Amino acid sequence: MSGKKNVLLVKSGGEAAIDEWRSHFAHFAATESPESAALDVRWWNDASVAPEDVAYALVWQPDPGRLAALPNLRLILSTAAGADHITSDPTWPRHVPLIRAVTPEAAQRMGEYVSMAALALLRDLKRSVRQQAARRWDSFETERSATDTCVGILGLGTMGVRSAEMVRGLGFRTIGWSRSRKAIDGIDCHAGNDALPGFLAQCDILVCLLPATPETDGILSAERLATLPRGAALVHVGRGSHMKFDDLREALDSGHLSGAFVDVFETEPLPADHPAWTHEKIVVTSHNAAIASRRMRARFFAAQIAAFERGETPVGVYDAVRGY
Ligand code: NAP
Repeated sequence: MSGKKNVLLVKSGGEAAIDEWRSHFAHFAATESPESAALDVRWWNDASVAPEDVAYALVWQPDPGRLAALPNLRLILSTAAGADHITSDPTWPRHVPLIRAVTPEAAQRMGEYVSMAALALLRDLKRSVRQQAARRWDSFETERSATDTCVGILGLGTMGVRSAEMVRGLGFRTIGWSRSRKAIDGIDCHAGNDALPGFLAQCDILVCLLPATPETDGILSAERLATLPRGAALVHVGRGSHMKFDDLREALDSGHLSGAFVDVFETEPLPADHPAWTHEKIVVTSHNAAIASRRMRARFFAAQIAAFERGETPVGVYDAVRGY
């Protein structure tokens, strides 16, 4: 690397966000993570940056081939919790550690989204919104309360555990499923593929918080949705690769499922003519269930760069064997 520059190249939030990133990184270098002080924060397409000066890259959907063209890259920082937007580039440099954004703030925001969706599905909020639009005063009762409703969470990582704790706090019976078995107070934890059918059969509201991997591809198939109890609902906040929209639509239209919140889709942005926009049982959100603030992501990544500079293992390292 030439000179004393430690360029941090940023592709997250567009060029307009670069001053904000710069000021947050400077703040946390001065207050909490002094080992990150030598950072020179620059926009991804800044033509004055020499590729050999780039030590770190903080990215969302980097242009294929660009990371591989940075010869002295030391860490890849994923601005999101998932890493699939980087690893989908076949040329991504696998020898460079990849760190996923793992902030308590994003987990809290995800817990808020899942709680909101679970309550809205429980109380049929869409029906009230429709009635309001029609100025129709029509009192109705919903069947259950949280205490006799089971929320099942696929994926008990940072996002899944916080969401489980929060919905449990609302009174829902809460169960979870992951690859390795967990022990979480008040949550009935299941693990492994053999346990999946028994888990799904209990879920009145199924929440998907899995990463995108070859194993989880298509996990919310028509066959699996059919194993949910009749009248169950879905909160899909994992990744678009987990489900084909037509499978959900058929399960809703047949009456097997009662409603869904969907935040992630096979194609994003969702095309304007996509049937999800107008489906009466679906609430669409724009992959914004849990976006951490730039300030908190800068804090997290400044700390991980500092740990790396001290020779320690950063938090949130992507494991290429597990695929997340
Ligand atoms: P994480 O900490 O890596 O947790 C992933 C969880 O999934 C772990 O519990 C893991 O099991 C489980 N898992 C992975 N593969 C599995 C398999 N084949 N079978 C069973 N369980 C499996 O990830 P996170 O930070 O919680 O984020 C999870 C995902 O949420 C992200 O990858 C992303 O897809 C999604 N997300 C969406 C948004 C949004 O705004 N919509 C925001 C953030 C995240 P083990 O514990 O046994 O490893």
